[in-house]
Amino acid sequence: MATKVDPQISQRVRELGAGDLNQCYHCGTCTAICPLSEGDASFPRRVLRNIQLGLGDRLVASPEPWLCYYCGECSDSCPQKADPGETMAAARRYLISKYDPSGLAGLMYRSPAFLVFFTLLLGALLAFFHLSIHVGKHAAGEAPFPSHWAAFAWIPYETIHLVGLAVGGLMILVVFAGLFNAARLMLKAHGGFAALRRYKVADYRRATMQLAHEIATMKRQGDCESDPPSSEPWYVQPRFTHGTILAGFVMLLIATTLDFFFVFGLKMQFYAVARPLGIAGGLVMLYGLLVYAWKRMRRATANTKTTTPADIWLLFFLIVLDVTGFALLVITAAGWKGVASDVILLVHSVMAMEFVLMFTLTKIAHALYRPLALFLHFLNAPKAGT
Ligand code: SF4
Ligand code: SF4
Repeated sequence: MATKVDPQISQRVRELGAGDLNQCYHCGTCTAICPLSEGDASFPRRVLRNIQLGLGDRLVASPEPWLCYYCGECSDSCPQKADPGETMAAARRYLISKYDPSGLAGLMYRSPAFLVFFTLLLGALLAFFHLSIHVGKHAAGEAPFPSHWAAFAWIPYETIHLVGLAVGGLMILVVFAGLFNAARLMLKAHGGFAALRRYKVADYRRATMQLAHEIATMKRQGDCESDPPSSEPWYVQPRFTHGTILAGFVMLLIATTLDFFFVFGLKMQFYAVARPLGIAGGLVMLYGLLVYAWKRMRRATANTKTTTPADIWLLFFLIVLDVTGFALLVITAAGWKGVASDVILLVHSVMAMEFVLMFTLTKIAHALYRPLALFLHFLNAPKAGT
């Protein structure tokens, strides 16, 4: 495949937070020091070289930026202060923008104003339909009808229901489109999806087992942090706090699914499990989010040295989502009703829907792309640039 050179790549990745790669003279110290560098002695240097030379095709074809857990060892050791660790993080932001077929992720990373505008616009649209659903339910005799929502009464309930289904369908489509695009780009330099045929069933089984083990243990992140051993207490180390956010997210996902069955009539056996599971998940996740926020404020570690507006927005968004969830729990238990409880319900549900819709546009998308990249890595796909 002919190699295209895009001289703008370096500047684009720089705008997303990368270090000054003009300073890099490829001494190889970052590769030597990286706890995750394996046999071929070119990680993370190969990614830096692809950016430096403007080899965009090779950059998007490489799963390597996702193999880095940003321990910051390479940045601390770089004699040229080229910040290779932050450059790997910026490369991941660049890749998220390339995988996203809508182009919105790139705009959100580049423009804080667009980030706020898009969030508010999406929030306003979702709020409109959320309010309409209540009105529709009222029209169908299912829910109380606050008088201040009367303006929405003209939308037919069937239309609202269809829009809700469309939002759910759109979310599934967006996730699959992002994953498909990422896989397509990662495999493009190796002959496309046809390259997958060269692997045997045993290879897929091995790669799946390795991926499951990695997700369950976060071993690579642990290796990244333990060399040299971290001076932080274990309960604030990235592996633990990342684990709390992941575990909290999974618990909340299960609780929400059980709640869905409860709403649809399967009653108490689900409710009795869903509620405590949801509370535990919310608390565990809130702990991890607050530790991340505290570290970002103090810029205590290498991976919190650079904070983009998108990072602040995402942390704020998730903390508000979590806290309003608990506020709703208290309101429901106390039986409070009024404008304040309506507003909290509205904020929480709109943010929850928005979170789902923007999943592939933000940093959270690493939950999709890192496992994919790890799977291809475990499958021993040839690396871009070799
Ligand atoms: S340590 Fe610094 S100068 Fe050396 S190869 Fe890595 S980024 Fe370049
Ligand atoms: S940040 Fe850590 S894991 Fe990532 S490339 Fe640098 S040394 Fe390796």
